[in-house]
Amino acid sequence: MANFKTHLAVATGASGLASVTLLNLNLATPWETGSYFLLGVLGGLLPDIDSDRSTPLLMIFYGLSMYCAFAMVFNIALQYSLVELFAIWVAIYFGIRYLIFEMVIRVTVHRGVFHSLLAVAFMLLLTADCFYYVLHKSARYSWNAGVFLALGYLVHLSLDELFSVDLHNKRMKKSFGTALKLFSRQNKGASLLMAASLLLFMHYAPPAKSYWQTLQHTMQHADWQAKLLPQQQWFKGLLN
Ligand SMILES: [Zn+2]
Repeated sequence: MANFKTHLAVATGASGLASVTLLNLNLATPWETGSYFLLGVLGGLLPDIDSDRSTPLLMIFYGLSMYCAFAMVFNIALQYSLVELFAIWVAIYFGIRYLIFEMVIRVTVHRGVFHSLLAVAFMLLLTADCFYYVLHKSARYSWNAGVFLALGYLVHLSLDELFSVDLHNKRMKKSFGTALKLFSRQNKGASLLMAASLLLFMHYAPPAKSYWQTLQHTMQHADWQAKLLPQQQWFKGLLN
């Protein structure tokens, strides 16, 4: 099992690469890209919300509550007074940091349902729906937000599996297969609840057609060589 520092470093790298690629392909503005990047990093830490009371868990909740409180306040800053904005920030921050924290601690089992592919889909749709309905972002913005969080989440699960292979003794540790599973067999009730919520989130998902079409079109028509390699004369001279 990978530790907090490894998860943070790998999630930062993966999310950084993905967000710069998005910006380079002209699929997001620099301001949006910063937000996606943070979501990717958060996604890379989020699966361990099912670990017991620990410093990493506190840090994950600290990051999560900060992100949600600021995302909301930035979004409505023009409609409300500073006093109201402060009250909203406090309510969201403390609501997540203490209320949801206690709930999650009581309900979850480590390496349970939150370490599964079902959770990746659940988090993707939950994030996309929250950005669309709560923050009133466009469908494109909401899908990008969901995809980045899910990407970080998936990187975390893959890293956990990778660390269950003991490279010295070339054998699998006991934890093998507990992170990248489809759903949790031990946590049948929680898995069912998550699957049912996923269906509900899918039903209310932001319109996806034009998002996928734009993404597909950009991927197919991007001049990848020009995007990947320097186009200046000095580089061409090196190749020849
Ligand atoms: Zn983990």
